[in-house]
Amino acid sequence: MGKTFDVVVVGAGSTGATTAYYLAREGFRVLVVDKRGIAQGMTAYSLGLVRSYYANDYVARMSHYSHGFFMNFEREFGTGVFTKTGLLVISNDETGIRRTFDMLRSIGAKVRLLGGDEIREMLNASVTLGEAGIYEEDAGYVDTGLYTNTVMNRARELGVEFVIDEAQVKFEGNEVVGVRLINSGEVIRANHYVIATNVWTQKLLPQLNLPIKNIIERVIRVEIGRSLPNVFDYVNNFYIRPEGSSYGLMGLLYPPEDAWPDPDDFNPLAEPEFDYAVNAMENAAKRMPWFTNAKYLGGWRGLYDVVTPDWMPIIDEPIKDLIVVVGLSGHGFKLAPAFALMVTELIKYGKVRTFRDIFRLSRFREGRLIQGTVQEKAAF
Ligand SMILES: Cc1cc2nc3c(=O)[nH]c(=O)nc-3n(C[C@H](O)[C@H](O)[C@H](O)COP(=O)(O)OP(=O)(O)OC[C@H]3O[C@@H](n4cnc5c(N)ncnc54)[C@H](O)[C@@H]3O)c2cc1C
Repeated sequence: MGKTFDVVVVGAGSTGATTAYYLAREGFRVLVVDKRGIAQGMTAYSLGLVRSYYANDYVARMSHYSHGFFMNFEREFGTGVFTKTGLLVISNDETGIRRTFDMLRSIGAKVRLLGGDEIREMLNASVTLGEAGIYEEDAGYVDTGLYTNTVMNRARELGVEFVIDEAQVKFEGNEVVGVRLINSGEVIRANHYVIATNVWTQKLLPQLNLPIKNIIERVIRVEIGRSLPNVFDYVNNFYIRPEGSSYGLMGLLYPPEDAWPDPDDFNPLAEPEFDYAVNAMENAAKRMPWFTNAKYLGGWRGLYDVVTPDWMPIIDEPIKDLIVVVGLSGHGFKLAPAFALMVTELIKYGKVRTFRDIFRLSRFREGRLIQGTVQEKAAF
């Protein structure tokens, strides 16, 4: 290649592509390396739910910022990737719902509180005393492949280079001295290295001993014959995302957490286990009795890179000039623009400026896990 770069980004999923674009906008010379191609990792299997809703104040701010990015995407990039559906979150923790609602209002999210009657009407649902909801009007989902390719194309127009190859981080003692491209044999040196390798991170950098495990996340497809908003039902443990006007994609909000360490041995196209599908559909039928008529149409599986114990990301520089953006669980897609901004600020200013710098590894040592995660643990 014979060129010099300010930053090498390993991984061209939603995280790496968005980060490359943000860096290029700031004038950095960037190389992105991916062994599979653009949006060929877990981004390809994502449901792409985006929203401002989070119960944790700091994460909600990041999500709200990112949500704005997706909603403005068509205007900025000329390609529509976002479908607005609304999101209904149902809980029986009335105090928690009220607190989250007030916080979301304070950061500018378009939310309203729903009582039992309104939930009943919206979903043709059965609702018991003490259950309440938050409805976020602007929530929706994004076509994750189209998004990632569009962002990467724009990044390339801004000068970012992209190569398909397998990267290996080269160390001398405790210092990172470059990235070796396995197929071409080249060693690329840069001032900074960004690792956006999701479920492959433990294979690439086992020596970091990051507290991450890969677990299976299943998605099932159903025919329901009507449209719905996105629904997160924390009482009955299921979520559903509409697909067109009569289909849904769904699963359990709290997945079984079975581990699958090696993503290269994983087949995402294998159907989810029948028991899982029955469980999710029965849970949905507890809320919406008409769901007993829903038809199971198969599904797929993906992997989450879960940070134990708080299921929140790690954005940190565990070794000088090596920034990791990993451990994204089911949060990774919707927060990609916020992550990209955080990484760009880390590189440009040496610190995160816009958001609270809460995703450091030091939180585990210092016992400052990210609060509000009882719900966030599972949510997309
Ligand atoms: C089933 C499912 C549903 C989801 N739904 C949602 C949702 O609704 N909303 C949401 O916000 N999030 C969701 N997520 C999570 C989100 O999709 C992911 O966190 C996010 O897409 C991860 O993007 P990424 O770029 O970090 O990783 P990936 O897309 O996995 O990309 C990592 C890339 O790194 C490359 N790579 C790895 N090792 C190397 C190497 N040594 N050299 C070169 N390249 C390498 C891989 O080839 C891969 O392309 C879901 C995830 C799954 C699995």
